[in-house]
Amino acid sequence: MSTVLHVDSSTLFRTLLKETFTGFGWKYLASSGIRESIDIISSIPVDLVVTALELSDGRADDLVNLINDGKRNEIPIVIMSSSDSIEVRKNLLLRGVIDFIPKNITQEQLRLYIQKLIRRDDIVEAMENISVAVLDDSEFDLKYMKSLFDFHGVKNVDFFKEPDLLLRSEKKYDVYLVDVVLPKYSGDQVVYSIRSRDKGCAIIAVSAVDHFKTISNVLLSGADDYILKPYNESVFMARFKSSVRHLLLYRELEKKNRELARMIITDSLTGLYNHQYIYEQIKNEIRKSDRYERPFSVIMCDIDDFKKINDTHGHQVGDGVLMKISEALKETVRDVDIVGRYGGEEFLLALPETTLQNAYTLAERIRKKIEKLKFGAEISVTISGGVAEHKSDEDEKMLVARADDLLYKAKKEGKNKIMK
Ligand code: GH3
Ligand code: MG
Ligand code: MG
Repeated sequence: MSTVLHVDSSTLFRTLLKETFTGFGWKYLASSGIRESIDIISSIPVDLVVTALELSDGRADDLVNLINDGKRNEIPIVIMSSSDSIEVRKNLLLRGVIDFIPKNITQEQLRLYIQKLIRRDDIVEAMENISVAVLDDSEFDLKYMKSLFDFHGVKNVDFFKEPDLLLRSEKKYDVYLVDVVLPKYSGDQVVYSIRSRDKGCAIIAVSAVDHFKTISNVLLSGADDYILKPYNESVFMARFKSSVRHLLLYRELEKKNRELARMIITDSLTGLYNHQYIYEQIKNEIRKSDRYERPFSVIMCDIDDFKKINDTHGHQVGDGVLMKISEALKETVRDVDIVGRYGGEEFLLALPETTLQNAYTLAERIRKKIEKLKFGAEISVTISGGVAEHKSDEDEKMLVARADDLLYKAKKEGKNKIMK
């Protein structure tokens, strides 16, 4: 649980702050002056200080100085003030105060403000799960970074003293922290090799080298950030988190792109490939079949009297039948075969390396399988199909049309039938 310390000689805002912070699950402590506050800070972990300008035993400036000079100098401080003087603000911001809250704030505004303040750390959860590789030849720097990560709850960290060990490691990490001056290798070489094998990780260079040429070179080699040693702990962690945030956004975007790419080629009801995609695949397969003189066949099939299913049991039951048949089709074919929904209750199957006879055997197997399927208590359906093998100088439209003509014939000959 996080703790906020509210410092104000007046008790006017206590209820407002208490209610708002406790509403977010924080522990609220109040104090009226500097001495009392320093006592609290040195005995209890405090995560945030909100202070008024005028305090019972001095001004906020003195409190800020005492906190900054003390052991707990990383605690963020926010000033709550009715004064809007730029001079006062500038002076306090220069001392590391992170923000100002006007005293005429409403409870709702305060709630939104605090939410924003707390959300700065919304990647805390991600920090526990990400994996980190630290490469540094200095034992001291590795130890220091270990204590830093321990303190900030980053648990999956591996440390490497030798670039070779990291580069040869099979394990992929989310974040790499790379020292720039290393034995045998230069940091930019290490950064470049990591980046070449993984576009979606975060790479942070950490170095005491502050020459602009080195910094730009390392960043151009693929690092996302360059942190100078010696670094301030808070700034280091903030930049680390910023890299993690970009990493998470990048991954989310990649995931969305994959979903989109899948959606573009699939039929949403059945999850089969859609009309356009199956045609493209047939075109491809015809090209391959012509070049390598390999057999290639298609099956066009259609559910018999499907309209009756809809009319008798409703469209939702009809949809369920379509989904179950799609599953059955996918289960029956080989991995390299492509199953598409050609239209409403019509399916088109593309079968590479398959002769007419083998395609016919498969179509018959599918027909028999569907005939036996039960959809609900007493619903069952049959399918009819046409099978055609690709002939040289025949394009995808002609091939599909031949299969379609054979399907039409099968319907005319009484349905539940496959024609070749
Ligand atoms: P046939 O044996 O000659 O193929 O007769 P049929 O009733 O199966 O064929 P028809 O072309 O007359 O009707 C096809 C039916 O398929 C009508 C249409 O409402 C239904 N259909 C097409 N797409 C969907 C769908 O996505 N969901 C549902 N529930 N029904 C669909
Ligand atoms: Mg039909
Ligand atoms: Mg039809």
